[in-house]
Amino acid sequence: TFDPDGPAPRIAVLGTGYLGATHAVAMAQLGMEVVGVDTDLHKVEMLTAGKVPFHEPGLPELLTEQLATGRLRFTTDVAEAVAWADVHFVCVGTPQSKTSHAADLRFVEAATAAIARNLTHDALVVGKSTVPVGTGARLRALLAAEAPSGLRAELVWNPEFLREGKAVDDTLHPDRIVLGGASREAEALLRRVYAGPIAEGSPVVVCDLPTAELVKVSANAFLATKISFINAISGVCEAAGADVAVLADALGHDVRIGRQFLDAGLGFGGGCLPKDIRALMHRANELGAYPASALLQQVDEINMGQRSRVIDLAVEACGGSVLNRRIGVLGAAFKPHTDDVRDSPALNVAAALHLRGAQVTVYDPEAGDTARSSFPTLGYATGVDEAVEGADVVLVLTEWDEFVHADPVHLATLAGHASVIDARGKLDVARWQDAGWTFRGLGRAAA
Ligand code: NAD
Repeated sequence: TFDPDGPAPRIAVLGTGYLGATHAVAMAQLGMEVVGVDTDLHKVEMLTAGKVPFHEPGLPELLTEQLATGRLRFTTDVAEAVAWADVHFVCVGTPQSKTSHAADLRFVEAATAAIARNLTHDALVVGKSTVPVGTGARLRALLAAEAPSGLRAELVWNPEFLREGKAVDDTLHPDRIVLGGASREAEALLRRVYAGPIAEGSPVVVCDLPTAELVKVSANAFLATKISFINAISGVCEAAGADVAVLADALGHDVRIGRQFLDAGLGFGGGCLPKDIRALMHRANELGAYPASALLQQVDEINMGQRSRVIDLAVEACGGSVLNRRIGVLGAAFKPHTDDVRDSPALNVAAALHLRGAQVTVYDPEAGDTARSSFPTLGYATGVDEAVEGADVVLVLTEWDEFVHADPVHLATLAGHASVIDARGKLDVARWQDAGWTFRGLGRAAA
């Protein structure tokens, strides 16, 4: 049993990647004592030294600040951390399985089993990772089977909705806090943990375990569907001579629709949306909920089709073959304000063109290093000028401000051929055309 009115709970955060590192720092910022646990010693050493192993605006400053308070520390010693803490947040990865669309739950199971085996007192386990519906029920059985006799670990699902690039703000000021399957005591304890955001107005949704698991994947499925919807319409615009960017603005004025996630282009990627919709597709199929899996199959296909479309446009711009052509690629991250290249559409396109024999030079303001370790055979530049120099065609694949505001007059003097493909629909078409560029975008008739 927990005492929600006792001293502030001690927090363990298992998994200190994009989600866990941010969560650990934010919990310390909210005034609790926190230990972050990871199996990756390098990550733990970096965080202990005040270095965030990935690019996330605002997080390095907050990490330094919270380490200095003495409330925050990091370790690989799960036994010590579990024995010390009262509330254990599970923030480990749930990547796509190597053999199917399903989520790989090995890390979540290993972390949960490690908590159970190392319990020295009753505790609350809070799942934050994104998991297929039904996982929590299995983990409850695992906790009951592995916990030392006489000790109890209650499991609650509290999915995380943070966006990379805005992770700190999203964690400290969440749009909603979902608590799935909590007993009265557990709910009271978590309301205490989240007292800061709740006092500032973050709504709390209390529900059962499967609903909480499904809220997260449904949110991502909806956002993915919105992007694939506008990309499907973008194909109609192109064929009919309409302009998808103007259309999206006009649609967005309708409050029932909203403007966000209506940018036509290269589509979504990253460590969440693609694998989350595939995992939901797989799970819906298992549950016999075929309309959901059929819908998501289309969403995924439309999304991947955009990558092929941009590759085709690049081939076309090079006169039918990219063999030995120089291609300048602006962008490697799956979206701006992150260095995350997991399932990045930009790198995917760059790698495909490289495989077809093009000489590809990639520049990204933040994701150069992560891109290089994933695709070491591509060429990498240290700036826009170097990527554009001598290029037969320039591809804008991630909408960093630096690219949106680049000077097309200057770049035209560097390029081999002033030919640009704007795969994110963010460049000022007239400005680039006035500077002499052959401009090709998605969702608008070829100029
Ligand atoms: P990540 O790969 O960056 O981090 C996962 C971390 O868990 C790694 O550092 C890994 O070493 C560690 N780990 C693995 N097994 C462990 C174990 N047994 N004990 C302790 N640590 C262990 O992944 P991420 O992007 O932080 O995502 C984590 C989860 O959060 C996923 O389910 C993801 O879908 C979800 N999520 C991510 C985001 C996001 O924007 N990245 C947003 C919301 C939800």
